[in-house]
Amino acid sequence: MSYQIAIDGPAGAGKSTIARKVAKQKGFIYVDTGAMYRAMAYYLLTKNVNPNDAQAIEETCQNADITICYEAGEQVVLLNGENVNGVIRSEAVGNMASASSPNPRVRERLTLLQKELAKANNVVMDGRDIGTCVLPDADVKIYLTASSKVRAKRRFDELSEKGISCDMQQIESDIIKRDEQDMTREVAPLRPAEDAVLVDSSYMTIDEVTDVILDLCEKRKKRKEL
Ligand code: C5P
Repeated sequence: MSYQIAIDGPAGAGKSTIARKVAKQKGFIYVDTGAMYRAMAYYLLTKNVNPNDAQAIEETCQNADITICYEAGEQVVLLNGENVNGVIRSEAVGNMASASSPNPRVRERLTLLQKELAKANNVVMDGRDIGTCVLPDADVKIYLTASSKVRAKRRFDELSEKGISCDMQQIESDIIKRDEQDMTREVAPLRPAEDAVLVDSSYMTIDEVTDVILDLCEKRKKRKEL
């Protein structure tokens, strides 16, 4: 049986950085589910779909075949066979992902793929609904959060480093809007699973958060062995 570590939380809490580190330490694959929702959003944007048009989203998403593979340990997202890793990180794609991800048809397609990946591999999977919907029996569940100010600063630094020009206040208001959308949607809203461990990373380093998760894995392993 595979070992499953689920990390959920709002945008910019550090999930992907931490998940990638934990996966490396454990020798597991890292599944970035946000990237799959972003690939779908990118597809919808290329088809000029209006984010408020649920019917158009539902119809258009049927034509997007999203899969993932790994190159040198890094997840590569394929949209209709094409690598879209380089084009899905913008705020525009993130906002469209948040607008289109409540659509049950979108979630159905991507959740199935995520469950299959976790069945066949030991995984660290991050997203919004991993502990609650995708992997309800995960061995370790983390709800990782941080203040919106800290999260906006992190996203600002990340985008600036890539040479993408951005405005910190705009990012913070986008983050707050995105959290609100993700937390209040009817299908698979962002919330901590009942058995998730809450970690606030506002004043923690990446290594400190990684260690908390690795310690939890050890404790859970011991408890399983008892
Ligand atoms: O994590 P990331 O910012 O890349 O996610 C983009 C958007 O995709 C989120 O705001 C959320 O609406 C959606 N998402 C989701 N469920 C997941 C992962 C991401 O609804 N498991």
